[in-house]
Amino acid sequence: MAFHVMLIPSMNCPSNCNYCWGVDKESETMSIETIKEVVEWLENFREEPVTFTFHGGEPLLAGFDFYREALPLLSKRLSHLKPAFALQSNLWLLTPEMAQLFSEYNIPVGSSLDGPKDVNDFQRGKGYYEKTMRGYEIAKANDLSVSFICTFTSHSIKLKEEIFNYFLENGLNLKLHPALPSLRAEDPEKWALSPEEYGELLIYLLDEYLEHADEIEVKNIDHLAKAVFMRRGTVCTYVDCMGDTFAVGPDGSIYPCYRFVGMPDYVMGNVRDHPSMEDLAESEAWKLLHRFKDYVDEECSDCKYIKFCRGGCPYNALNRDGEIEGVDPHCTAYKMIFKELTDRVNKEFLTSSLPIPGMSQPGKNSKASVMKLMLKPS
Ligand code: SF4
Ligand code: SF4
Repeated sequence: MAFHVMLIPSMNCPSNCNYCWGVDKESETMSIETIKEVVEWLENFREEPVTFTFHGGEPLLAGFDFYREALPLLSKRLSHLKPAFALQSNLWLLTPEMAQLFSEYNIPVGSSLDGPKDVNDFQRGKGYYEKTMRGYEIAKANDLSVSFICTFTSHSIKLKEEIFNYFLENGLNLKLHPALPSLRAEDPEKWALSPEEYGELLIYLLDEYLEHADEIEVKNIDHLAKAVFMRRGTVCTYVDCMGDTFAVGPDGSIYPCYRFVGMPDYVMGNVRDHPSMEDLAESEAWKLLHRFKDYVDEECSDCKYIKFCRGGCPYNALNRDGEIEGVDPHCTAYKMIFKELTDRVNKEFLTSSLPIPGMSQPGKNSKASVMKLMLKPS
């Protein structure tokens, strides 16, 4: 099993998306000294392969020189961990020089786009569409692979057909993200999607995806289909993420995940101290997230999806006082889509292996099957 370290060079961001919960305009920027400490920390930390994701805030605020030094340091000094890299950025600050560097390290880029210009700019900010598209063109010109996270909110859910068609017609792959109530926002529910709406959206996207599987990739559906097939989660939300995911904030503080960065109660240690797994396990944040695992084992014990859901995301499950008072509130959505995938694949299995008189078999031009999604290479 690989482990995942998210590097957060800054919690600042030049944009100010209406629904965003994670920006700190006063944030410091990570120094290259901190990257050197990350290297020292990880040299003897674990033996499995590591994936580094540069995340934020906006990670490109660290600038070209930071990446020019950080990437060789991480990849050469930690070569025994076979490091892979990824970047999550709004692309506004991407320059051709940076894109060339990222291309040398085969860094896939995730960016954010909420649909056509009017939808995107309504829920993120005026002019944001153009700025992201400008960066996207630079990324493409330098052969970077870019996929987009599309945040669906209580507003854009009403426009789901228009949004899906936009991605389809423009040849853009998509990963959907439901707007969440934040632990930090003043009006946490304003943009949030209800679990039922999220479940219906997943089923809608499954339907559309099966119609257009050769033209677009909907990554969430791929992950969910694979999880049902393999009986275990393939992304952090559906596994016990604690202990295999860490985030390093701009000052070197270590957190369980990027979503906690900047929240002092969730600091597990600092890269300067080169903590071992045992040291991190002594932290309150580690213990809290492990209590979530125990809670899920009990609370979800009767759920037929527990093996590949694992109670969802612990961050989503925490209340504003940092206490666990339930599983991930998206449980309803997860149950809806897991049931849909299971029912459909069972039906496909029956109709394809046991010919039923009067029922037509899938022909050459029929739409993709759930099984095909399950077997799709990652
Ligand atoms: S806390 Fe949630 S987002 Fe973070 S690693 Fe765990 S499942 Fe993923
Ligand atoms: S679907 Fe709900 S009940 Fe089932 S494992 Fe996931 S969070 Fe628990």
